[in-house]
Amino acid sequence: MTKKVYSANAFNVNKTMVDSNALSIIKELQKHHYQAYIVGGGIRDLILGFHPKDFDIATDATPEQVKKIFYRNAIIIGRRFKIVHVFFNELNQVRSSKYSKKIYDRHIIEVSTFRSSKQNDDKNTHGRLMSDNNYGTIEEDAKRRDFTINAMYYDPLAESIIDYGSGIQDIKDKTLHIIGKPQDRYIEDPVRILRAIRLSDKLNLQIDDNTRIPFQTTKHLLQNEPKGRLFEEMLKILQSGSSNKIINELSELKLSKGVFPLFDSENILDKNSLAKLVLEKTDERIQNQEDFSVPFVLAGILWHKVESSWIHNKNVKSHPNKEALVEAIAARKWILFDSGITQNLYSSIKDIWLLQYDLENPSLKKLDTILSNGRLRQAWHLYNLRNSLVKDPHPLHWWWNKFMDESIDDKTKLLIQLIDLAPQEETIKPKKKKRKKRKKLKEQDHNTSVKDNNI
Ligand code: ATP
Ligand code: MG
Repeated sequence: MTKKVYSANAFNVNKTMVDSNALSIIKELQKHHYQAYIVGGGIRDLILGFHPKDFDIATDATPEQVKKIFYRNAIIIGRRFKIVHVFFNELNQVRSSKYSKKIYDRHIIEVSTFRSSKQNDDKNTHGRLMSDNNYGTIEEDAKRRDFTINAMYYDPLAESIIDYGSGIQDIKDKTLHIIGKPQDRYIEDPVRILRAIRLSDKLNLQIDDNTRIPFQTTKHLLQNEPKGRLFEEMLKILQSGSSNKIINELSELKLSKGVFPLFDSENILDKNSLAKLVLEKTDERIQNQEDFSVPFVLAGILWHKVESSWIHNKNVKSHPNKEALVEAIAARKWILFDSGITQNLYSSIKDIWLLQYDLENPSLKKLDTILSNGRLRQAWHLYNLRNSLVKDPHPLHWWWNKFMDESIDDKTKLLIQLIDLAPQEETIKPKKKKRKKRKKLKEQDHNTSVKDNNI
C-alpha cells in the first residue's frame, strides 16, 4: 500500500469540526508520545460533507497504555479484539432546563490500537476470525480495515490526512471498494456485506463490481453471526438516516431472512404500511439530527403483526379486549428475541404496545396511571401515526392531541368531554368456576403437604 499524505484543508476539513472530547483524547495521547488519529466514519463523513455519527480513534498505544492515561474514565472492552471506551459526562442543556436540575449524558469515544497484519489462526469452521489481539503499525492497521474510504487517518493537530489505499480517490469517484480479496474478506467477517450495503446507501456510493459479486456466495455465512452483533448492525441501519433504502436493498438481495427477523416482512416494504411510515419518520429525524427512540421504532415496525393477532383474538376467539392484546404480544415477542433484543428493551416496547389499548380506552379513573407511564410520549406518537393511516380517526384521537398539547393550561373542559368520548369499560364476567376449583386444589395441596410432613 502506498502512503499519500494530504492537507485536511484541501477538503475543507479542520479540527473545529471534530468532537471536542475526541480532540482532547488525541491531544493527550500525542502528549504521551503516541500516535493518534481520527479514523473511519469520523474523517470519511467530514470529507463527504456529512455530519459524522461518531469519532473513532486509532493509536499505537496498547489498550493497557490507553487505560493508564485515562484511568477512571476508561474501560477495556471486547474479547475478539480489545478496545478502550473513554467516557465523558456531558451536561444535557435541554433536559437540565426542562427538569431544573443538572442532567448528564454519558458520551463514549472508542479508542482502538493498530491491528497487526499477522492474524491469529483462531478461526471457526466457517473461516470466521475468532480472536485478534495482535497489534501492529498504522500501515498494517489500514490493510485490516474494511473499505478504502474507511482506511484514512486524520491528525487534527497536524491538519493532515494519511491515506494508505485509494480512499480519497474513491470518495471523488463515489465508489465503495473493499480492501484486499473481496471473497476472503467476507468469509473472514460476513458482517462486512451488511456494512457495504449500509454505507453505500447512506453515503450515496456505488458498490464496485468486484466488491459486490461475492455477496451471493458468502451471504449464507451471516446466519452464523451472533444475534447480538446482528442486532447492533440492525440499530446502525435504523440510525443511518437511510433505513428505508437499506431495508429495500437487503430484501432485494434476500439478505433479511434469518438475519434480521424484524425486517423480514412484506409489510415493511408496502408503501402504505405503518412500518414504512415509522421508517420514513425515523429517517427524517436522523437527517435533521434529532434524537430517535429505539423502543418506538421497533414497536412501530412490528405493530401490524401484534395488531393482527389482537384483532384475531378479539373477533375470532372472543377474548376481552385488553386480554386479547396481552396474548397477541406474548404470541409475537419471539420475533424481537430472535432479533437479539434485551429483556429491558422488550419491556419498553411492550409498554408502548399496551399503551395503545389505554389510549383507545381512556377513562377519568385511569388517566393518572396513563399519564405517569414513562413511555406515553412514544406510545402517543405511534397512536398518532396509526391514526394518520385511517380515513376517519376516532374522535378520541382529536381529544388526545388537545390533551397532550402543553400550551393548553386549563384542561377541565377536556376532562368533561372525555366522559362522553371514552368507550364503556369492559365488564369482565367473574370466573366463578375457576375460583372454586382453585380453592379445591388449595385444599388438596394443603392436605398433601400435611401428609408429606407426616411422612
Ligand atoms: P458509522 O460509525 O458512520 O456507522 P464507521 O465506518 O465509522 O461508520 P464503525 O462501526 O464506527 O463504522 O467502525 C469504525 C471503523 O472501524 C470503520 O470505519 C472501519 O475502518 C473499521 N471497521 C468497523 N467494522 C469493521 C469490520 N467488520 N471489518 C474491518 N474493519 C471494520
Ligand atoms: Mg464510526
